Amino acid sequence: MSVKRIAVLTSGGDAPGMNAAVRAVVRTAINRGLEVYGVYRGYNGLIHDDMVEMNLRSVSDIIHRGGTMLYTARSPEFHSEEGMQKAIANCRARGIDGVVVIGGDGTFRGAQDLTRRGLPCIGIPGTIDNDISCCEHTIGYDTALNTCMEMIDKLRDTAQSHDRYSVVEVMGRHAGYLALNVGIACGATSIIVPEIEFDFDRDIIGRIEATAKTHKKHFIIIVAEGVGGVLDIARDIEKRTGIESRATILGHVQRGGSPTLRDRVLASQMGNHAVRLLLEGKSNRVVTIQSDRILDYDIESALAMKKPFDRDLYEMAQEISI
Ligand code: ATP
Repeated sequence: MSVKRIAVLTSGGDAPGMNAAVRAVVRTAINRGLEVYGVYRGYNGLIHDDMVEMNLRSVSDIIHRGGTMLYTARSPEFHSEEGMQKAIANCRARGIDGVVVIGGDGTFRGAQDLTRRGLPCIGIPGTIDNDISCCEHTIGYDTALNTCMEMIDKLRDTAQSHDRYSVVEVMGRHAGYLALNVGIACGATSIIVPEIEFDFDRDIIGRIEATAKTHKKHFIIIVAEGVGGVLDIARDIEKRTGIESRATILGHVQRGGSPTLRDRVLASQMGNHAVRLLLEGKSNRVVTIQSDRILDYDIESALAMKKPFDRDLYEMAQEISI
């Protein structure tokens, strides 16, 4: 069956560059003779038939904007068979024969469920955590890295002026990629990630003491969200060292902002590729990038993959940030 009308949605946590991906999907689809609908608020929009037909100008002036013009949501209703059937029925009624979903692994599970029920779906990884195993860089990751780096550079100015210690939590519930890379870029003395068990005395106090001997007077400790506890860590550092220590949780600023060049280009490539896959009659695929090549994987096998933590990079950080 040839595809004539498709839909695009953004789901899960928003990520800078989602707009650029939506734009690429819409423009590629229309330029290849398809009709395309923009679905609002993720799977909720499919369930409640909240969608609008897009034209080439519907996606004007969004490539540089963070967030998502289609809005995003987590949809508990979509987990039920009834919710999924409503989504399918609404797509059938509108003649939609393919859906591009932009989000994280939860979003891809939803895409898999829809494909299994007869509605072909393609996933595009949009998440700042970079926690999609088959993909070296997800949309939004590069922007989040740069946002964190800029914020921590600012904290460093003030920590340095006051000879203070700064403990900073960055996003990453299960993955420390953001923390590791930002930690390297900001010269953090300690980088605490969920992938590596940490010992307060060895990994924080020991490193501070070793570095203090060389007359360093201000320290940045980066902690991934999945480890958490930055308030306690800052309090304990202050107790042990007697030096004023402040905790900062960067929070949702990490999700926002204008996407970097890298995220805009990546999102454009991935959006274009997703539509090509649907036109080739493919479904249940997730678009990825590996060694600068845009590829795609079966969603089921992509979800089963494990992304190894880069221990070499971690060891390198340990060596040079002291
Ligand atoms: P992020 O990485 O930003 O958290 P995500 O896509 O993983 O993004 P989730 O909240 O896990 O975010 O999933 C988004 C939506 O996908 C959910 O609200 C739900 O509608 C759907 N979804 C998640 N898991 C499943 C599942 N196992 N089966 C069907 N649909 C799912």
